[in-house]
Amino acid sequence: VETLRPPLLRPRHFLCQHSSAMQTSRISQVSKACGGLPTPLRVPHVVRLGGAAAAARNASSAAPCFGAPSAPCALRFGPSGTRRAVQGVRRAASPSVVASAAAGKYDYDLVIIGCGVGGHGAALHAVEQGMKVAVIEGHDIGGTCVNRGCVPSKALLAASGRVREFKAEQHLKSMGIQVGSVSFDRQGIADHASDLAMNVQGNLKRSLEAIGVDILTGSAKFTAPHTVKYSLPGRVDVGGEVTAKDIIIATGSVPFVPPGIPIDGKTVFTSDHALKLEWLPQWVAIIGSGYIGLEFADVYTALGTEVTFIEAMDNIMPGFDKEIARVAERLLIKPRPIDYQTGVIATKVTPGVPGVKPVTIELTDFKTKKVVDTLEVDACMVATGRAPFTQGLNLGAINAETDRRGFVPVSEKMEVLGKDGKVVPNVYCIGDANGKYMLAHAASAQGISAIENMLGRPHVLNHNSIPAACFTHPEVSFVGVTQEKAEEMAKEQGFPLGIVKTSFKANSKALAEKEGDGLAKMMYNKGTGEILGVHIIGLHAADLIHEASNAIATKQTVLDIKFNVHAHPTLSEVLDELFKQAHVEKAPAKVPVGAK
Ligand code: FAD
Repeated sequence: VETLRPPLLRPRHFLCQHSSAMQTSRISQVSKACGGLPTPLRVPHVVRLGGAAAAARNASSAAPCFGAPSAPCALRFGPSGTRRAVQGVRRAASPSVVASAAAGKYDYDLVIIGCGVGGHGAALHAVEQGMKVAVIEGHDIGGTCVNRGCVPSKALLAASGRVREFKAEQHLKSMGIQVGSVSFDRQGIADHASDLAMNVQGNLKRSLEAIGVDILTGSAKFTAPHTVKYSLPGRVDVGGEVTAKDIIIATGSVPFVPPGIPIDGKTVFTSDHALKLEWLPQWVAIIGSGYIGLEFADVYTALGTEVTFIEAMDNIMPGFDKEIARVAERLLIKPRPIDYQTGVIATKVTPGVPGVKPVTIELTDFKTKKVVDTLEVDACMVATGRAPFTQGLNLGAINAETDRRGFVPVSEKMEVLGKDGKVVPNVYCIGDANGKYMLAHAASAQGISAIENMLGRPHVLNHNSIPAACFTHPEVSFVGVTQEKAEEMAKEQGFPLGIVKTSFKANSKALAEKEGDGLAKMMYNKGTGEILGVHIIGLHAADLIHEASNAIATKQTVLDIKFNVHAHPTLSEVLDELFKQAHVEKAPAKVPVGAK
């Protein structure tokens, strides 16, 4: 059992490039002495109460079967392992599709290479449509999301969020609560994450078996159009060749590691290793301040580790709306033992030995390409994005190839584009492997879209309506464009831009939870009421975003939704407040439904 240590304000060790001797100094002093980039001074560690932590979702497999008792009933599992009933599997059979396998022309109507959440979502929808389906998986059912991504990371966030919450004495005191000393078991938290991943993986596998999907094991590659061969190195008992009318590539991604960074999996590691929580370094440098880096900073700091972000762009959280990033800095970074260096890249990383030898990180100015600092830390996490995993597919056999970065080029209908830029018949690519929107729910939505298209029902997924979330405490979420982009669009297209904002301090439920820190804002076209983007930082922001994303997906304007009623007091009123504030110029008088 590791008892939480008091805030750490220990000196940081740097090797100044101009100095031969190792200097021990505060980060800001060293930066200044070396002419390095200004680094914010460490502020005293104030532990905030995290939101009512997004608890690990129940992924129990003992699920009841809903629906008509006579219908074949299988359980469907979404990316997060939640379940919903599928009734009447293979009920909406498309005669042409069913015919292709049933007539013996091909082994299957559909073969899916890779069974992450993208492949899984596609398989469920295909079976629902009456198709005979096989998935070929080379590693773990559930892929990144279930085994090395969304699911275990949310378990770590849930557990560490509780630790942060129970440790926030002042915050709890303000609600009349006193908690004794708080301790945690690192291995217990790690086990919670791995157990959840195993549980959800099992659920996914069973959900496929229950609806008759054949699960083939092996690494697959094309040998000809409609034909895929699969095998596992060193295993003669698995493998084979199958044919299908349609084939989906859903092979996902792996951590991207920039050149010059050797991964030893102990002191220099990616999210794949970090999720195992094998140890808690005292000080970890996280390269990259995207959502993966931010979530791990949340976990680490809650468990007593200090964090330094190394960010190539000029600002921390460069992928986020600027104002939201500023609020995030105030809520997620400044009150915690986190600092950062921006405008620098880690050009050379030398692994260390835990507790014996530090990791050294050479920092180079992103613009001038000059080495500006060398950082010594206990560990270094590389969170610089994801690279498509598309090697070995032998795309040449279908006259296709990946782009420069390894992504499989696709049309808006998820059809694979060949070397000549034309659609390769009957081959689709979904999820991280096509690089369009590297999130779990995007992968499964693309899978469903691909099935619709192969059934001859043209479908184009509106990627602008796909929400994204960062599960820090508090959470950050968004859909659509940033304010910067909306301003650009308004200028170019000449429409009046509306921007409305509200604070969580105006929400009774947030105040009841003593979680008034947070902001929500919406950009919309004042002429038409079209919603362009919504960004939220605050308690349960990841759950709140869906009202906005669904409105965008179904093309509802602010006029359509501003008369909707939200239960009081709920956090959903945060969005209600945004919609109500929105003012559409010269709008046709809208009569609320039921007012006639
Ligand atoms: P993957 O999940 O990567 O699955 C691809 C599968 O294909 C793998 O199982 C692989 O073994 C298999 N495969 C590859 N090649 C072959 C082959 N030739 N033959 C057979 N099988 C093959 N997204 C969210 O939406 N929300 C989150 O909270 C979130 N958190 C994340 C946290 C972390 C730490 C990470 C790393 C990612 C997170 N993501 C999150 C991203 C999410 O995990 C991915 O976007 C998602 O898993 C992509 O799904 P996919 O089906 O395209 O690919």
